[in-house]
Amino acid sequence: MVLQDLGRRINSAVNDLTRSATLDEKAFDGMIKEISNALVEADVNIKLVSSLRKQIKASVKFNELPARANKKNIIQKAVFDALVDIVNPHQVPYNPKKGKSNVIMFVGLQGAGKTTTCTKLARWYQARGFKTCLVCADTFRAGAFDQLKQNATKAKIPYYGSLTQTDPVVVARDGVEKFKKDRFEIIIVDTSGRHHQEEALFAEMQEIQAAVQPHQTVMVLDASIGQAAEAQSRAFKEAADFGAIIITKTDGAAAGGGAISAVAATHTPIVFIGTGEHLLDLEKFNPQSFVSKLLGMGDLQGLAEHVQSLKLDQKDTMKNLTEGKFTVRDLRDQLTNIMKMGPLSKMASMIPGLSGMMGGMDDEDGASKLKRMIYICDSMTAKELDSDGKIFVEQPTRMTRVARGSGTSVREVEELLTQQRMMSGMAKKVKSATTNAQKAQGQM
Ligand code: GDP
Repeated sequence: MVLQDLGRRINSAVNDLTRSATLDEKAFDGMIKEISNALVEADVNIKLVSSLRKQIKASVKFNELPARANKKNIIQKAVFDALVDIVNPHQVPYNPKKGKSNVIMFVGLQGAGKTTTCTKLARWYQARGFKTCLVCADTFRAGAFDQLKQNATKAKIPYYGSLTQTDPVVVARDGVEKFKKDRFEIIIVDTSGRHHQEEALFAEMQEIQAAVQPHQTVMVLDASIGQAAEAQSRAFKEAADFGAIIITKTDGAAAGGGAISAVAATHTPIVFIGTGEHLLDLEKFNPQSFVSKLLGMGDLQGLAEHVQSLKLDQKDTMKNLTEGKFTVRDLRDQLTNIMKMGPLSKMASMIPGLSGMMGGMDDEDGASKLKRMIYICDSMTAKELDSDGKIFVEQPTRMTRVARGSGTSVREVEELLTQQRMMSGMAKKVKSATTNAQKAQGQM
């Protein structure tokens, strides 16, 4: 994960200082130095680091600090605020409005993740009730339209593109006009990237901008770009005056500080970050949440938003639970919900304190176990799914069939049924506790 080491280093620098026996100014300066070194090594621009250094020093008047307990809080807050300032350009990004056509144009170099991110963003708005579509104005790269088409079809998002028209300006204009007429609310335009910044690319971007008049232009930056991010984002800013940045591939091992420095270089806010190749791997960016997560302090607001955005279907299970039931189908629905949440480590990073505890856990192992459990459920009949599982005790041969049908083992089927029995037992207890409480209150 990008910047994970940085977070760890900053944390231990602060903790070492606040735990140390000699909490004096010399030790404080040492902490600032260690934080600065960590930032520089993560590719954060050196000028930014130097201003962070000054800011922390200025906000902690060491000689006037009160008792030790408060000292720790004051130092932690100073570091937190200074880090937030690095990623906060104090500019409010464009906020699409419902009921009108909002045109969002993507720019960035080839391979940055534009096409992938276009679809992710379209899905993000679609999940929030916007009528959303995609326009492929990348006629430069062979296969770009096919890629967008595939992604859009998977996400069930209407798209526009052309296999014959070679002028990207015409494609962009026609696509946006068509979707505006059909009253689409979010129209996302993907453009071509090329390998290098070059005159032709910038001229094309400007022509498309003039043709579609975007409400927001988004620059897509690969997190692994390092120190080159600054020059690249400045050049794009000059040519296309983008109003927002999306940083992709933050799930990779790159240092990431370069891409983050682009915020300061262009005074432009990061609006989202890409956290993986999957359609759901896009997170809204908020400076405070980002720094909280970086420092292992969790991000409960982000977690709540993430869970809400998944639109999990809990209706039937909740109904069954109030009746003291928990069927095999309920277990299957809950397993599917967990799968939708994305990698377990990502969820854990949003819960304060949990990411540290889950350090050694392997997402792939967890996900593949969940998938096998779902396969088992999918090999059952509707009657079996809606049962309390006892049906398998009466007909053990069905267990063998289900195991064979799902490509798993009888032992795994047994484990799943044990899990469901346990949940069912809990549901019964909840029901009887509720009934007793209601009786006690004379409500029955
Ligand atoms: P484009 O040339 O800018 O349109 O880039 P693409 O959308 O084709 O992306 C290039 C590659 O980066 C593809 O293999 C994507 O799957 C991958 N990619 C994009 N965003 C992310 C991300 O957030 N994380 C990871 N791991 N890969 C990504």
